[in-house]
Parts: sequence; structure tokens; C-alpha cells
Amino acid sequence: MREGESIACHDCGRLHGWHALRVHERARCTRCRRELYRWYATGPAVRPSSMVAVTLGAMLVYLIAQCFPIVSLELSGLSTSVTLLESIGVLWREHMQVIAVMVFFFAFVFPALEFGALLYVAGGLWRGRRVRGFDACLRTVQAARHWAMTEVFMLGILITAIKMTSLARVVPHPGLFAFGALTILAALVMRFEPRALWALGDRYLRKDPYRPLARPGGGALVACHACGLVNAMAPGPAHGQRCARCSARLHRRIPNSIVRTWALLAAAALLYIPANILPVMVTETLGSGAEGDTIMSGVALFWNTGSPGLAIIIFVASIAVPVMKLLALALLAATAQWRSTWAPHGRTRLYRVVEFIGRWSMLDIFVVTLTVALVRFQQLATITPGPGALAFGCVVILTMIASAQFDPRLIWDPIEPNGEHHA
Ligand SMILES: [Zn+2]
Ligand SMILES: [Zn+2]
Repeated sequence: MREGESIACHDCGRLHGWHALRVHERARCTRCRRELYRWYATGPAVRPSSMVAVTLGAMLVYLIAQCFPIVSLELSGLSTSVTLLESIGVLWREHMQVIAVMVFFFAFVFPALEFGALLYVAGGLWRGRRVRGFDACLRTVQAARHWAMTEVFMLGILITAIKMTSLARVVPHPGLFAFGALTILAALVMRFEPRALWALGDRYLRKDPYRPLARPGGGALVACHACGLVNAMAPGPAHGQRCARCSARLHRRIPNSIVRTWALLAAAALLYIPANILPVMVTETLGSGAEGDTIMSGVALFWNTGSPGLAIIIFVASIAVPVMKLLALALLAATAQWRSTWAPHGRTRLYRVVEFIGRWSMLDIFVVTLTVALVRFQQLATITPGPGALAFGCVVILTMIASAQFDPRLIWDPIEPNGEHHA
């Protein structure tokens, strides 16, 4: 980035001039207070060498976490232990292929994609070049980061382990500690923002991406949704124009944002009913036969067996958060559709909360996955996943896509439309 270069706010579209920050400073939007960038995310603080070191470390810990068992259960001389991939295999064999695929992507594929693509790009910058596929790789990092759920999975492991202590002896294995370390390393890797890498890559570009902005008499200004570059559009419809830096398709607002948000919300609300009525887990024990547990009865069980803390965590993640997300997104979509000017700051904050908490609802799916894989004591006790888990997993994914489809700048458009200070 260069001094004075335009940077657009993600949430409201207001344009700001970029300037270097002092240590521990962060730049915020003057209109909606959204954080624009932090001191370490731009300029000399981002060093390709440290990016390579941290990402390589995360990659190695990731491999350890995936190769070693996480925990084992011991009960009446029998013992079971699982790795992440083994527990996904159990789900697959229990005819829960959709959930198996979800867990496979969220806990296995996306973290690896994020680290791999980042390492490739940062490694290239370290050696002083913009690698082939630079733009596609950084876009992959952005998308994979949004869907990688290492920290949620880690909490899922802890809850499963605590839950199992009432049933059998729980023995921690190297995989558990590796996932703990991976959670910390993944948070460090998050500091390397694709947009900062795009800015670093600029010095190896033959063309100057900032030139189109300097041209007077251009059309509207549009911020690229991938790399953040503010492009001056040629007059006419934005459709079909591409970013001068990363060649992503440009559009002023996410196309059909409100209609798509409504459609995804409706599907999620419908599935929310079976998600709560049908059992998420079926427990078969010697003598007492099969017994189904819904999300709510699982919460009640924790509460009654002396684990109120776990009951509250599961209640918040699996019941309060999905309901709150459905209601909040409906409110945002409706007010944006009516071009309401009511409480834009409050609605923008609500949007940020929805974006932030969305992933944590996957917690229950991870707990079900690990529980099902661990409790296989042939005749003594077996737990299988129920159809409620499938419906619930779909609710979480649909609401996550719905919040990604909602364009927060629509909140601000009726208030100060299309000025020269907005993109
Ligand atoms: Zn803003
Ligand atoms: Zn771009």
C-alpha cells in the first residue's frame, strides 16, 4: 500500500486514504467504525520470511494432529481411540455421508488449503517473485479461512472428552495436544491477511494497478471484493468489468444479495424444525435398548448430570445462536429491502455479530462425530448419529452462506447513496 491510496470500508463502502500506522494502532472506518487494517497487516511489518516460518510450523503441527489419535476411551477392559479421519470414516459407514463430508472439509481440507496456498504465495514473495496463480491462491486463502474450523473442532474435542469421563476412562493422546497447538498457530496465521499479500505482490507487477484511479472523468468507484483495490469503472454497467490488479469480477454490490439471503434463510428455517425434533444421536446399551437424544434433551442431560457449564455452552452454540442468526438475518434483509434508514450503526454491528458467531454452531456436529466414533464397545454400548444431526448441519451451513450473501453496504446505501467518497 502507498501513502494516501484509497481503501474502502468492507461494511459501509466509505473511502479512506491509507497511511502507515504505529505499532499496536488500528485504523477504523470514520462512518461505521469497522476496523480497516491493523499496524501489522500492511507495510514493512509483514515479512514474507516470518510468514513462511509460521505457516510452515502450522503445517507441521497440522500433520501431527491428523496422524495421531486424539483421545482414547477405556471401559471394562475394552479400548477405542480415534484420529479425525477415522471418526469421519465411522460417520460414512453409519450412512451419514453428508455430515462426514462436512466434517472432512471443515476440519481437514480447508485448514490444509489455507496453509498450503499461503505458504506457496509467501514462499514466492520471499524469493522475490509473484508466483504463477498468485491471485487464485490468495482467493483460495480467503475462502478456506472462512470455512476452516480448527478452533471450533478443538472445543468439540474438549467437550466430548469431558462428556465421556462419566462413561469411561478418557486418555489424552498426541493428537489432542497437536490440535491445541494448531488452534494457536492458526490464529497466528490469520494475521497474514491476503489483502496485505496482494499489496506486497504489487511491486512485481508489470502494469501499475493504481493507474486507472488516477484517470480523471472515470465512472463510479468500485472496491474489488477480493483484493480490496478501489477501481474506477468505465461508464456503463459494472457487469463484466474486472479488477485491474487481481482480475476478479467487479460488482458494486453482491448481485441479488437480498433475494439470495431470503432464499437461504427460508431453507434454513424449514430445516431448523427437523433439526430440533429428530434425534441427533441414538444410544444403544446392553439391556436398555435404543434411545434417541435430540439437541434439547442432550442439553437437559448435561444439566441434570452435574455439568451445567457444558449444558450452557451446547445450548448457546446449538439453540440460541442458530435462532438468533435466523432472526437477525431476517431483520437485516427486510430493512435493507425497505431501504430503511433506521439505526445503521446498530444493524451493522448486528451483521458483524452474525458473521462472527456463525461457525460456532458447528460445535454440536463435531461433538456428535467424535462421540459416535469413540463409543463403539460392541455389546456394551454403541452410539450412532441420528437424522437430526444431518438437518442441523445443513441449517448451520445455509445460515453461514446466507450471512456471506448479505451485503452490509446495503444498510448504508439509503443514507448516503453513491457519493464520491463511497465505493
Ligand atoms: Zn464503514
Ligand atoms: Zn481485485
